[in-house]
Amino acid sequence: MVPRKPLREVSTLLQQIEIKEYCSIVVFFQSQGGDNADLNRHFGFDPMQVDDMILSHGHIDHSGNITQLVRRGFSGPIYCTKATFDLCSIMLEDSAHIQENDLNYLNKKRERNGQKKLDPLYTLEDVIEALKLFVPVDMNENVEIDKHIRFHFTDAGHILGSAAVNLEIEEPDKTIKVFFSGDTGRFNDYILKAPQPFPQADYIITESTYGDRLHEDVENTELELLKVVHQTCILNKGKLIIPAFSLGRTQEVVYALNRLFNQGLLEKIPVYVDSPLAISATSIMRKHKESFNPEILEYMKKDDDPFGFETLHYIRDVELSKELNEKAEPCIIISASGMMEAGRVKHHLKTILLMQKHSAHRWIRPSRIFRRSNDKRRKGS
Ligand SMILES: [Zn+2]
Repeated sequence: MVPRKPLREVSTLLQQIEIKEYCSIVVFFQSQGGDNADLNRHFGFDPMQVDDMILSHGHIDHSGNITQLVRRGFSGPIYCTKATFDLCSIMLEDSAHIQENDLNYLNKKRERNGQKKLDPLYTLEDVIEALKLFVPVDMNENVEIDKHIRFHFTDAGHILGSAAVNLEIEEPDKTIKVFFSGDTGRFNDYILKAPQPFPQADYIITESTYGDRLHEDVENTELELLKVVHQTCILNKGKLIIPAFSLGRTQEVVYALNRLFNQGLLEKIPVYVDSPLAISATSIMRKHKESFNPEILEYMKKDDDPFGFETLHYIRDVELSKELNEKAEPCIIISASGMMEAGRVKHHLKTILLMQKHSAHRWIRPSRIFRRSNDKRRKGS
């Protein structure tokens, strides 16, 4: 087994393991758009020589460039968890629209400067072709890539469906175990399960971005949100805009509001999730309860939909989204700026900037245990 070409650039990681004995190559793959366009277009290997791919999770900086790899000749299976497949189905499409749109803008600029136009990194057609190669498997299911190579996913608790990869390679005299962490989540995430322990490994490949950050605790974050809602919507009779990523943050904010609503703490003001991508992501989240932590599962015994309550409305239609800007009454709008949203949050923010009674609130991801242990550590040091 030869770990080949670990290429580390800012925010870009590409890891490839070549198993020479059996002429099989496994690639763990990441990409970044924008300034890294050149890196995305030059893999440093021939995609046609890659046999299999294992995808850790659906974030676009990990999954986006799969589409180009397929376009350039990769035709093997792409293993991922079932939730990751569901998420990639909506997120890659959104990303393809963003790529095409970004390029239209860039090409206009290039044309003005007399430069050659660039081709899109990938298109919707590339996404459709790539998705055909996905092989969704269960978390912890043993998957045989061939008779000498197998792996299973363990839950990484980072986003819905995120997984670490436990790879076993049989060589004539021994079995080599390789663990690849992917992005790792928190041990007490607001919605998701904690990262699962993984079996003993001979080699560990891991990521550690944000390893030194402290996290807010759940109750403080909920009460902070409630305070802002009260000040903006009740006292000022304004609109509260909460910009939130379509996957993860949006569902956390909705769940927090749901909890406050059920406790009778949230006043009966309309709440809108104004983001088609977030609506699709929420449906996928509802479908994959196997990824939820014990607290939310316990909560769901009393309220089977933590992402829905009486005053909550999901807005897909663009006309209804525009109408939200016209409305004068107080409300909460949770919105994002992805391509499927066509920058909806920007329009809402524009309207609130005109009047002081409105406000925007940044949702900080809460976590329970980390704060307590950090507090203890501070006291002890
Ligand atoms: Zn990630």
